[in-house]
Amino acid sequence: MATVELRNISKVYEDGTQAVNNVNLTVHDKEFVVFVGPSGCGKTTTLRMIAGLEEISGGDLTIDEKRVNDIPPKDRDIAMVFQNYALYPHMSVYNNMAFSLKIRKLPKGEIDKRVKEAAKILDIETLLNRKPKALSGGERQRVAVGRAIVRQPKVFLFDEPLSNLDAKLRVQMRAEIAALHNRLQATMIYVTHDQVEAMTMGDRIVVMKDGVIQQIGGPLHLYNHPENLFVAGFIGSPPMNFFPATVIEESGGLLEADEGGFRIGVPASAAALLKSREGQNIVFGIRPEDLVLAEKEEDLKTFRAVIRVVEPLGSEIHLYAKTGEQSLIARVPPHRSFKVGETVSFSPNPDKLIFFDPETGKSLFTRGSSD
Ligand code: ATP
Repeated sequence: MATVELRNISKVYEDGTQAVNNVNLTVHDKEFVVFVGPSGCGKTTTLRMIAGLEEISGGDLTIDEKRVNDIPPKDRDIAMVFQNYALYPHMSVYNNMAFSLKIRKLPKGEIDKRVKEAAKILDIETLLNRKPKALSGGERQRVAVGRAIVRQPKVFLFDEPLSNLDAKLRVQMRAEIAALHNRLQATMIYVTHDQVEAMTMGDRIVVMKDGVIQQIGGPLHLYNHPENLFVAGFIGSPPMNFFPATVIEESGGLLEADEGGFRIGVPASAAALLKSREGQNIVFGIRPEDLVLAEKEEDLKTFRAVIRVVEPLGSEIHLYAKTGEQSLIARVPPHRSFKVGETVSFSPNPDKLIFFDPETGKSLFTRGSSD
């Protein structure tokens, strides 16, 4: 059982930098929570405060309802896996993994059992006598994880553990860590700047920007119901397209985009909600896969765009195109070929439009969700 609670947690560094601002979050027992956000958003600082490696400037941090703000890292029953692995170079893999247990004066037999069990889980049994310099990046990473596993901590913390690995190994290790979570049934908090890693690994994702939580939710919930422009643009690859537009019809059923370049109808439910914004500017977002290629042009349903770049990925094609001054990305099936300079018609799926206030960046209304 290990629940981690952050209540109004803030961090102000000595030079006055506010790295984390009033973060509130409960990480439930056995949950895999991923902190994601661009460089400098405060995710590492938050993790280091949980680990006890960074002093907390304000708020309360509890583990299993016990306030741990002033408890030193070694007494928090937490194990952290770092980006640079932080292995002891002069020690064998076995001793790297056994080290923290020796310090705790665990019986030799128990240490041996734990190290061998962890080595088996991580498939590094044959490497136990090697020194870290004789290991590949992926193997070092496994040893670093093994060192955390043997401690049987209440909570595992991971700080960008895969960022030094090549792309293929990253995908493999990502699946291994997710499988490890299922196997150990432990509470895990994982920091990354990579939204694909966040989406594929997290039970819940915490999106941060400028030290502030932007949204917390399951991967699909964040994808389908982003609460603001930042989350909408950060989650999803290729990213969501944003169109500045004006609500033009009294019923709110029509939007004019691309400075009058095209008009598009919205479903009745959205129209009713947009009604009060007649004449006002909004931004609508549409995911690249929801820009469907239209066979024929249809008033209020399609718009034309000129293809600028074609990226054939095998399973799908990414089209970078321009309508008027507006750039867009579409993900289309690989059923036909496309040429740069070709004009095509897109039909945005009206049910997938997401509307934002251009001033606040907030989503105008969130639709019901069971994600
Ligand atoms: P990255 O992905 O680049 O590691 P991050 O989201 O983990 O970024 P943090 O390392 O938590 O971000 O940093 C958050 C903010 O705090 C940044 O603006 C950073 O410059 C600042 N910061 C970090 N450490 C210190 C420090 N020791 N003194 C002053 N400011 C710091």
